[in-house]
Order: sequence, then structure tokens, then C-alpha cells
Amino acid sequence: MRGEQRERPAELDLPARQPLAGRTCLVTGASRGIGRGIASELGRHGATVIVNYRSSEAAAHEVVDAITEADTEGMAHPVQADVTDRNEVNALRETVQDSVGPINVLVNNAGITCDRTLANMDHDDWHRVIDVSLHGAFNCTKAFYDDFTSVEDGRVINISSVIGKQGNVGQANYAAAKSGLFGFTRSLALELADAGATANCIAPGFTVTEMVEAIPDEIQDEIRADIPLDRFANVSEIAGLVRYLSSEESGYITGEVIDINGGLDL
Ligand code: NAP
Repeated sequence: MRGEQRERPAELDLPARQPLAGRTCLVTGASRGIGRGIASELGRHGATVIVNYRSSEAAAHEVVDAITEADTEGMAHPVQADVTDRNEVNALRETVQDSVGPINVLVNNAGITCDRTLANMDHDDWHRVIDVSLHGAFNCTKAFYDDFTSVEDGRVINISSVIGKQGNVGQANYAAAKSGLFGFTRSLALELADAGATANCIAPGFTVTEMVEAIPDEIQDEIRADIPLDRFANVSEIAGLVRYLSSEESGYITGEVIDINGGLDL
């Protein structure tokens, strides 16, 4: 609860259980790319992971099988839902509640791009992108809100993007959705604080997934030339931070936007 000073003594012994054992984590858009990497990382560290997907059922089942068959305490369940659809998200909440009970961690990862300069962007292009990244995060957070205020160490982790900070030609819709997550996260952090729960945002730079592989090679080279570390991020580098933010240890970090971008804004 708010202001409660909880001692977490540093033990010399290694913990008997995996760090995320006993924690239930929902990752939206976990069938592919960054979401898949996050789900696998959380499962590898002992969490029970709800692997949400919209259409890639076979891929989501692969993620679930890999987690449950690994020699860890991690468990996983696939659940289909389109995060833009409030009714599907509410049904997702009921399925999760019935099968594993309240969640400790929500990772709002589902996102799409639909790149066009503003001159060529129509209203559908604008709404589709904002519907998934921003309204999807709202729909899921709203549906599971009571979980964060009732469990110990509730966490909401929103996957934004460096584009939300910098903007980009052809990505006004994506930049608006991703910077919208900053204000959403900060407000949520304030509202959850009374319950001792936290909300944070991660803003990855270009990360090796299908989303980036779809960018033409010559443009990838141009982007890479501007990155001080001279490479794109690996999914595991994003997943590692999500694993930390999902843990009990991260409980004093809230309302932050944490960059993982190879030094792009230095
Ligand atoms: P990706 O490879 O295209 O995967 C997108 C995932 O989102 C898929 O699992 C997809 O599920 C799911 N999804 C899409 N629309 C959905 C919906 N309406 N409901 C539920 N799930 C939905 O993308 P990614 O590169 O891993 O990106 C993941 C997140 O990281 C996004 O929010 C993206 O904006 C952000 N990000 C990515 C990069 C990058 O360089 N890759 C950089 C910064 C931030 P289905 O396959 O089932 O449709």
C-alpha cells in the first residue's frame, strides 16, 4: 500500500524459486517479434504467461509449447483477442480470470504500423494504428485494472517507441499513438500508486523483428548510420528490461519512459 516501507533484505543465498514464479503476466501481441521474446523471457524466469494473439494462432501455440516444455517453473496459455475490440478484451479477461485468476503484470505490446506521409494518409490509416497501440492499451488496462489494485506488486508495462519521442516522416499516426502512451503511463502511475502498483513505458529504438525487416535495405542502412551503437536492438535486449520491470525488485520505478535505442538521442 502507499508509503509502506517494505524491507527486502539482500540474501546471500540464491533464491529457491525462479524470480517470476507465482507471477501471472499477460503479454499482448505475443505471437511474433518483441512480444514473443517478452513472453518467452517471462516464462523462462518462472512466470505463468498469457500469450495473446490476434490472428497468428500457430505461432502463439509455438510460444506456449516452448515455455511449457522448457525445464522451468514457467507455464503458458494462448488466448486470442483483438485488443482494439472492447468485447474481445473483456472476454479475454474472463477467460484469464477463470483459468489462472488475477494477473500481476500486463505488457501492452501489440502494435502495428501503416506508414504514409500525412499528404497520403487517410483516416483509416490514422485510426487503425491508434486503435491498436493506444486504444488497445487502454482497453486492456481498463479490463484488468482491478487486478493491479488487488494483487501484490501489480505492473503495467507499455511498449512505446523512440518514434513517439522523435517523430518520423511517414509515421504521424504511429508517433501520435506511441507518444500518447507516455501521458497514459504517467497518469496511470499516479492512479495506481495508492495500491503499490506501478506503470512504466519502454521506448525501444529499431529492433530486429518483421516490422523492421519490412523496411527496404537501403533505408535500414541509413537508419543504422544514425545510431551511435551502429546496430539495431535485439529482441532479448527489450525482453530483459521487461523481465526486470515485471519483477518485485522494480517496485520503486514508476511513471518512467525508459529508452533502449543504442544512443539515438545522444
Ligand atoms: P510485429 O513483429 O509486427 O508483431 C506484432 C504483434 O502484435 C503480433 O504478435 C500481432 O499478432 C500483434 N497484434 C497486432 N495487432 C493486434 C491486435 N489488434 N490485437 C492483438 N494483437 C495484435 O511487431 P514488433 O516489431 O514485435 O513490435 C511489437 C511492439 O513493439 C509494437 O508495439 C511496436 O510498435 C513496438 N516497437 C517495435 C520496434 C521495432 O523496431 N520492431 C521498435 C519500437 C517499438 P498477430 O500476429 O496474431 O496478428
